[in-house]
Amino acid sequence: MNNAITLTVDADGIAVATMDLPGRPMNVVGDELMTALAHVVERVVSDDAIRGLVLTSGKADFCAGGDLDRMSKWQDPREPFEASMAMKAVLRRMETMGKPVVAAIGGHALGGGLEIALACHARIVLDDPKLKLGQPEVKLGLLPGGGGTVRLPRLLGIQTALQIMGEGADIAPAKALSMGLVTELAQDRDDLLAKARAWCVAHPKAKQPWDEARFRFPGGDSRSPAVAQLWSIAPSVAAAKSYGNYPAVTHIMSSVFEGGLLGFDAASAVESRYFAACAMSQESRNMIGTLWYQLNAIKKGASRPAKVPPSKVTKLGVLGAGMMGAGIAYVAAKAGIDVVLLDTSIELAEKGKAHSHGLLDKAVRKGRSTPEKRDAVLARIKPTTAYEDLAGCDLVIEAVFEDRAVKADVTRQAEAAIGPDAVFASNTSTLPITSLAQASGRPSHFVGLHFFSPVDRMPLVEIIVGRQTSDETLARGFDFVLQIGKTPIVVNDSRGFYTSRVFATYVMEGITMLEEGVHPRHVEQAGLQAGMPMPPLALQDEVSLSLSLHVIEQTKKDFAAEGRAYQPHPAESVIRQLCEIGRVGKKAGQGFYDYDDDGKRLWPGLARLYPPAAAQPPQRELIDRLLFVQANEAARCLEEGVLRSVADGNIGSIFGWGFAPFHGGALQFIDAMGPKAFVARARELAAAHGARFEPAAIVVAAAEQGRRLAG
Ligand code: NAD
Repeated sequence: MNNAITLTVDADGIAVATMDLPGRPMNVVGDELMTALAHVVERVVSDDAIRGLVLTSGKADFCAGGDLDRMSKWQDPREPFEASMAMKAVLRRMETMGKPVVAAIGGHALGGGLEIALACHARIVLDDPKLKLGQPEVKLGLLPGGGGTVRLPRLLGIQTALQIMGEGADIAPAKALSMGLVTELAQDRDDLLAKARAWCVAHPKAKQPWDEARFRFPGGDSRSPAVAQLWSIAPSVAAAKSYGNYPAVTHIMSSVFEGGLLGFDAASAVESRYFAACAMSQESRNMIGTLWYQLNAIKKGASRPAKVPPSKVTKLGVLGAGMMGAGIAYVAAKAGIDVVLLDTSIELAEKGKAHSHGLLDKAVRKGRSTPEKRDAVLARIKPTTAYEDLAGCDLVIEAVFEDRAVKADVTRQAEAAIGPDAVFASNTSTLPITSLAQASGRPSHFVGLHFFSPVDRMPLVEIIVGRQTSDETLARGFDFVLQIGKTPIVVNDSRGFYTSRVFATYVMEGITMLEEGVHPRHVEQAGLQAGMPMPPLALQDEVSLSLSLHVIEQTKKDFAAEGRAYQPHPAESVIRQLCEIGRVGKKAGQGFYDYDDDGKRLWPGLARLYPPAAAQPPQRELIDRLLFVQANEAARCLEEGVLRSVADGNIGSIFGWGFAPFHGGALQFIDAMGPKAFVARARELAAAHGARFEPAAIVVAAAEQGRRLAG
C-alpha cells in the first residue's frame, strides 16, 4: 500500500481514512489515490473490529478532482475508459461492502472528489460558504467519469443532476444541503468528524438508495412521462446555447439519458464510454491546455520578470472617476487596498464612489456580503479633487478622457505629488504607451494597465510595456493585477495593443460580409456558431460606430504623420455611412439594430443599403472567415513581438473578448488544426476575400518546419 491515505481505528471501531497525497498541494483522483482507497476498503471489509468508515482529507481541500497531468498523456480511448472503470470498481465495492461509509468534507470537493463522496452513504460538510462542491468537468470539455452521471440522477433526480453537470457551477454547502446533495452540515472540523462517526454508529446497515429493491429515480427515470418531456426540450435548449461546439454537454445528456434506462452497472459502463469520448476530444485538449496549463503558468508569473522581488500595493490613486476609474477603485478597495479617487469636481469623484456603493448594496441584498463588509470597503475609497491626497500611493492609474493633452496634464500633476518610486499607469485603450510616457518625468516607471468594461466582471488586465518601461515597473504592475484577483497578460506597445487589435478584426469582418451582400442574419448567426459570445454587428453597436470611426480617423492621421500608406478596411465605408445617418449604435437607440424597451431587432433599412445577394455563401465559409481573421491577426502579433508568449495570446483572447473557448484561444485555434492546414485554408480565404487572410509568416514557417506555435 502507498501512503496516500492513512487509516486509524478508534475504540468504537470506526475507521478514519485521511487522504493526503504526498508531495502534492491537493488530493487529486489518479492511480495513487484509488489504489490506496482500494486497500482501505479491503482492510475495512476484512477486519471484523471495524464497524464503519469515515473518509476525510489531510489537506485544505477534500479532493480537487481528476489528475489532469495523467489525462493529458492519454493517447488511446481505451486508457480513459479503463481508468474510469477501475475507479468506479473501487467506489462500487466501497458502497456495497455492507458497512457504513461517510465522507467528512472540510474543504472543496470537486469533480472526481465529489464523485468519491457520492459513493459514500452520507456526506457531512463543513458549513463554510467559501467551500465549493460541484462537477465542473464540463468547463474543461469533460464529463464526470467517476459515476457522477449515474449517482447524481439517482440521488437528486434527472433534471437537477443535468443542471449540476451541464453548468458545472460551484454549490455552497447550505444550498447543497437544501438540494439533498449533502446529509448534514458541521460547525467546525471536530464537529465534522464527530458527526461523521455518529452517523456510522447510527446506521450500521447503511445502503445506497439505488441498491434498495424498491428503488425509484426521484422524479422518474428516463422513461417516465415527466422526464420524457424534459428530454424532448433539453437537447434543443443546450444546442441553442452551445451551437454544438461543446460535445461534453451532449455526452453528459446522453450518459444521463441512457443511464436512466439501465441498471446501475450498465449505466456505469455507458458513462465510461462517453467519458473516453470527451477525454479524447480536441475540445477538451484545447480547454485543458489553455484554461488549465497556460492559465496556471500565467498566474505563477510566466510573463513576469523573475528577478524582481514580489510587491504589494497598499495605497492606490485613480485619476478620473468615470466608468473605468470607478470600476478600478471598486475592485482595488474590495481587495483591501486604500484608494484615492480623483476627478475634476468632488461631485464627479463622489459619483465614482457611488458606483461601488451600488455594487456592494446589490451584493448585500443577494446575501453575498454583509452591511459591515460593504461599509469597510467603502471606507477605503476617498473621493477627492486634491492631488496632494495622492501622497504615499505606490501606484496611480489614470482613467481620464482618451485625450493626449488631458492625460499629459494629469500625469504631470500626479507625479509632482507621489514619491519617486511610485508606478504610474495608464488605462488608455488606444494611445501608444511609449508616446504617453513622454509626459512623464520618469518613463521607466510608466506602464499600461488596460482594464476591460465592466471592470468588476471582466477577468483580464492587459499590461502594456512601453519602450522605456523597466522590468521592475512591469513586475509591480503584474503583482497588482494578481492582488486584485485578475489575470494579467503582458504585451509590447503597439497600435491597439493585442486585444483591441485582434478583436476589431472580428467585428470588421462581419461588417464586410454585410457590405458584400451576405444577409445580416447569416452574419450574426455565423458569429454565434463560431462560438463567439456576441455576433459581430450587435457587438459593433455595443462599442458604438462613432467610437470606431474616431479610432479609424486617428489611425489615418497617425499613418500620415509617420509617412506610411494607409489601406482602408472594406468595412470602413459601412461604418461611415451609418454614422452619417445617425445610426451610431446602441447608445443612440439605432445602429445595425433598432433598440427599444422590448429589446433589439435588425434594422430593416439594412436590406436597402446592402441588398442581400441572390446566392448566399455557406455558413461554414462565414464561420471560417470570422475565426481565421482573428487567429491570423493574433499570429501577426506574435510575429511582431507584440505578444510575448502563446499563453498570453490564448488567455488574452478568451478572457479579453470571449474568443471561442472550445478552440482554446486564438493561437491554439491554429495549433489544434495544425499550422499546415491553417496555411492552406488561409490561402484559399485570401484568394477569395483579400490579403488580410494571407497567413502570417510565423505560421508559414511553423508549417514548413512541422512544428506548432506553442513549440
Ligand atoms: P469616462 O468619460 O466615463 O470617464 C472619464 C472621467 O475622467 C470622467 O469622470 C471625467 O470627469 C474625468 N476627467 C476628465 N479630465 C480629468 C482631469 N483632468 N482630471 C481628473 N479627472 C478627469 O471614460 P471611461 O470610459 O471611464 O474611459 C477612461 C479611460 O479608460 C480612457 O482612456 C478610455 O480609453 C479607457 N478605457 C475605456 C474602456 C471602456 O470600455 N469605456 C475600456 C478600456 C479603457
